[in-house]
Amino acid sequence: MGTSQPDGAGLQVLVADDNPVFRCMLRTMLGKWGYQAVEVSDGISACSVLESADPPRLAVMDWMMPGIDGVEVCRRVRAAAREPYIYIVLLTARTESQDLVHGMDAGADDYLTKPFHPQELRVRMRAGWRILELQRELLDAREELRVQATHDSLTGLWNRASILETLDKELVRAKREGHPLAMLMIDVDHFKLVNDTHGHQAGDAVLRDVAHHIRSAIRRYDTVGRYGGEEFLVVLPATDLAGGMVQAERIRQTIEGAEVAAGDKLVEVTCSTGVCAWSASGAGDAPGLIHGADEALYEAKRTGRNRVCANGAAALDQTLVRLDAEIKSLG
Ligand code: GH3
Ligand code: MG
Ligand code: MG
Repeated sequence: MGTSQPDGAGLQVLVADDNPVFRCMLRTMLGKWGYQAVEVSDGISACSVLESADPPRLAVMDWMMPGIDGVEVCRRVRAAAREPYIYIVLLTARTESQDLVHGMDAGADDYLTKPFHPQELRVRMRAGWRILELQRELLDAREELRVQATHDSLTGLWNRASILETLDKELVRAKREGHPLAMLMIDVDHFKLVNDTHGHQAGDAVLRDVAHHIRSAIRRYDTVGRYGGEEFLVVLPATDLAGGMVQAERIRQTIEGAEVAAGDKLVEVTCSTGVCAWSASGAGDAPGLIHGADEALYEAKRTGRNRVCANGAAALDQTLVRLDAEIKSLG
């Protein structure tokens, strides 16, 4: 930030002061440095501006104001603990150190004692801006870490821990609301062969493409994650076994029909899927569902691959009876 450059670059600054002459002076100073003043003349208005959807990130606030004073505004802003942070400079005519401690304790970041030299305010605004920038970088880094911790870096899907957490949460919700819940375990067929034939990097590209196709084939409120190597879990809320099989079949057809990029070659891959569902009438937990889907997946592999199998013969019978009834009702 060079001194010849405007500091503020259009950044909004809340100016809260009941003295119109002082407000005008602050507006002029801030405007000269490139900030844009948002003016209010009392504490209540200051609060409502700072509590709005997109508030100024910097505030210069008089201590003594009608209604609620600047210290109380600070306290309310900090109590709301909003992000991103609002940097507050208190203006005070007082000089007793005890008062300043009181103001800083309430959540002010800095203070200026009236009267002050314009440059004093300017450097405080710059310091505030710098702190806000650092805080933004920190928030970005935190968000990046959160994404890294919850997503699979190869496919961009939820990782194993996250998809299992989703399954747990959705099962709790299904039980509470009395809805069914289906889950799919999808495994790429003969994937080792893709690696062996085209190389590991090409294998990675295939996994990315398969992930993309699964994601594009599911509904917005379904969740897909990478469970392991070339295995994916899909959680389908408010879906019974029959519905899960329909979804799984749609995914199977999407992948079967797609040409998947393996490096510079296009290859065809297929998937086998095990489907398991929890229904409102039954007992069961997340490990049980995974076990069920895993068994069904094994069955799909055993009976020829590139197919969808449901867990449990009884469940399948029920499903077939229901599908049969639905088909008949359609005429
Ligand atoms: P099946 O039809 O029975 O599932 O056969 P498969 O070859 O797909 O299954 P298998 O479990 O024998 O092999 C899976 C292979 O997936 C072995 C492993 O090296 C590979 N793999 C696991 N993770 C990755 C990965 O991130 N990238 C690549 N390129 N390969 C992976
Ligand atoms: Mg496989
Ligand atoms: Mg596997």
